[in-house]
Parts: sequence; C-alpha cells; structure tokens
Amino acid sequence: MAGLADVFSEQEKTNWLKECLGLNIAKHALEQFVDREMTDVWTQVYQVVRSRLNLPTTTVCSNCCTANLLKCPAQNICKKRSKNVCRSMHDTPNKQHRPCSMTICDEVRDEIIKAHRYSQPSWKNTSAEQWANNHWQIAKCFLPPDGYSEVGSAHETDFNGIISVMLNCKHFDSKMSFAIAQTCLLSKAREVGRAVRHNADCKMNHIDLQNTFIALIDLLSDPTSLGQDGQAKHAVRTLKQLEVDTLKITEAEMSNLLKDAQDTLTQMKQVADASLKEMNDFLENFLKRYASIKEEDYVCASEEFITRLKKHYNDALSHVSMSTLFPSGDESLHKLYAAPSICRKTENNDGENEAVSTYNEILYTGEKLKKRIFLQDEAGMGKTTFATKLILDWCNQVEASSLLPESNPPFYDASTIHEFKLALFITLRDSVVHRDVTKMIKEQLIDLMYADTDREEAYLLLNKLMQTERCLVVHDGLDEWRDPEGKVAQPI
Ligand SMILES: [Zn+2]
Ligand SMILES: [Zn+2]
Repeated sequence: MAGLADVFSEQEKTNWLKECLGLNIAKHALEQFVDREMTDVWTQVYQVVRSRLNLPTTTVCSNCCTANLLKCPAQNICKKRSKNVCRSMHDTPNKQHRPCSMTICDEVRDEIIKAHRYSQPSWKNTSAEQWANNHWQIAKCFLPPDGYSEVGSAHETDFNGIISVMLNCKHFDSKMSFAIAQTCLLSKAREVGRAVRHNADCKMNHIDLQNTFIALIDLLSDPTSLGQDGQAKHAVRTLKQLEVDTLKITEAEMSNLLKDAQDTLTQMKQVADASLKEMNDFLENFLKRYASIKEEDYVCASEEFITRLKKHYNDALSHVSMSTLFPSGDESLHKLYAAPSICRKTENNDGENEAVSTYNEILYTGEKLKKRIFLQDEAGMGKTTFATKLILDWCNQVEASSLLPESNPPFYDASTIHEFKLALFITLRDSVVHRDVTKMIKEQLIDLMYADTDREEAYLLLNKLMQTERCLVVHDGLDEWRDPEGKVAQPI
C-alpha cells in the first residue's frame, strides 16, 4: 500500500502533503457542523421575519433576485457605472432595485446584515431567489466576497470558506468557548489553510506542521459544541493518528487526497513547477496501478475471503460435542441433524401458523427477499443447530437434493442459500461489548481467519463485500445481547 512518504523524495514535502490531508480531515467535520448550524440560522431568520410580518409559516417568496434587494451602487459590487447606468448587477430592467411584494425578502436581507459581524454580507455570492428553500444560499452571505458564486453546498465550500462562515456569522459567538476575533482559534485555522495554499515550494518544516495539528485539534475539541460533536471527535482521533504516522490510508483515500493536493498545487499562483511535476508523475503512476489492481484485486481477495470463511465454518461448526466428558466423541452434525418443524407467525398472530419447510419460504415473501427474520422458541429447541446447519449448507455447494432425489427432506433447497455471496454467523453472547455487526464479524471471524498483519485489509474487504454483495448475517442468541448504549434492540 502506498503511503504519503512515497509521493515526494523530501521530508518537508511529505510534511506539506500531510498538512493537506489534515486540513481535509478537519474540513470534513467542520463542514457538517457549520451546515447544521446554518440550517438553524436559516430557520430562525425566517421564523423571526414571518412572525414580525404576521405571515403564515408557509409563506415564501422566490421572485426577488439579489439585485432587486440592493440599492445601486451596492458597495464593492456596482463599480462599473457609466452615465449613471449600472453595468454590474443592476444591468437589466428586471434586475433593478425594488421592494419585495411581500416584504419578506427585504426583511430577510436585513436579518442577514444584522447577523454579519462586519455588516457586509457577500451579496455577490448568493442567489436571493433560493433563500427560501436553500439554507446554504444564506450561509454564502458569510463567505469571502469573491470566488464562491458557483458553490452550492457546505461540502462544495472549501476549508477557508467554512472557517469564514464561522468567523463572520455572529451565530457562532455562542458556539465557541472563545471570543471570535482577529486572533482566535478560527483565525489560526484560517492561517493553516493559507499556509498550505500559498506555499510555493510545497515544503513545510516540522515545527510548522506540529503547530498546524495543534491548531486544528484545539479547534475541533473546543468544549462549547465541537468537543461533543461525534464527527469532530472522530476527526481529532484521525488527526492524532496522522500526526504520529499510524493512520492507515486506503488506496481510494490516497487517490482522493492526491487529486485534492494536485488541485491545490494547480491553483497556486506561483507554483514550483518541479513539485507539481514530481506530484503529477507519482499520481499518474499511482492511478494507473490503482485502477488496474483495484477490480482484479477485489475479485481475487473476495474469492479468497470466501474460501477461508468456508474452511473456518467447516472446522468450527461441522461437529457437535456429544458429551462434555469425552470431547473426542464429537459427531458430524450432518449425521445427527433432524430438521426442526418451523411455523410462520403472522404479525397479528391470529393463530393461523403456517408450516415452513424450505429456506425459500423462510427468506422470501414471493420474489422479495425479507430484510429481517426472527426464529423464536424456548431454549434448547434447536435454533442454534438450525442456524449452524444453514451455514454449513451455504458452505457445501453440493446440492443435498441431488443426493436424495426421492425423499426431498425439509430444507433440501440449499441452492436458495447459495444465492448469498456471503453467509456470516455471529454468536451474540460472544460480542456483548459491541453494537456494530461488522465489528462483531471482525472479532468472531476475521480475527480467527487472518493473521494479525492481514486483518485490517480483510476488514476493509468485508465492508466492501457487505456494501456490494448479497449477504446473509445470522445472529445467534439475540436474547443474550443488550445494546451497550441501551438504544437499539438489535445490533446495527
Ligand atoms: Zn448596481
Ligand atoms: Zn421577495
């Protein structure tokens, strides 16, 4: 797996790349926080205005464009005037200044001015027509004056923009433990962003890099709100790993990071051509290699994963202990197995219990695969054995019905189970500390199937398999599991 240190030959350039990644991580958390807060600001602005004007909560106006709401000449916008005619935003008859027919847009404009720390919203960026249904159009009034007109969401806004919203919108005064001013944690973070972008030789010394991490981590841990925010906490953990080089970066993340860094480099005004060339050469090579191995690797690795999984199940599940005193007397489950009689319980349980004797009837309603199935009975009636047999039927690709053509025993339709690329068997009593199914799978299967050094990669593969393939997850012993956080009835 390629690492950050492989891109450039110089340590100081690696530091710079590390800082790019650090900013990305911080930005991802801040962007979601700011997006949420600005949704609140937007809601509050409209609430205040509608109640002041005695308008119903559903009243909206989408007829006013930004130019209609601003007198000409608008400060810093209407510069090009000849013969008293505006050549900037008021350049057509329908873009002249006029009051909003419902007054609502004029009032919203005034609320935005009031919320702006310097009373100078960036009108050039925003489209007033969208104010009523897009909170980010209001957030854009708090961005730097230029360069953001095409940006449509918090996600599309860069780090500098996100920080600007927090610096310029007074709403954030109550969200930070410190006074927002020219020098504060936010302005420090903005400096960090600038240091990355306005860095002609793409080099950063160790001390500056350290200070960067301190600034970002301090901001993300600010006790008033960010310190309690899940995304921010996660970002802090990731930044700490990145700082000490223990962060594992997947090929996909690496590829995204490099593309971002390349964009940054290309945007820099006085970029050192040598750095850009070194980076481009690496990136080109990396992407070629990444693209060619990605698909092939996935197919190969998933085949291997499945082979290991089947071997694991066959070793672990195919024999049952006949006596605790004589473990050597284990018997084959296939030999001993007697299918339980299973009935379908309808939701309102009107007493009409329908017998079920194929996997198909258990897993499907008509053509439709069920999302969740619960198998219920007293303890010791064979639920675990049934689940085990199901897993072994998944492992064993030989069709049971072909062996016993005339008898068709219950649950002979193993082919139904073979439609699942993966069957994952979890004993809930062994994972009471977890609430996340993939973590349980890691602990109960991957850790037993893979050597320590390969587990991380196998876990990533499992996540990909579970996202892209049809998987069957069998939990045994739901009654023995309680959500450690006391919120959900089943693992998530
Ligand atoms: Zn004008
Ligand atoms: Zn209007």
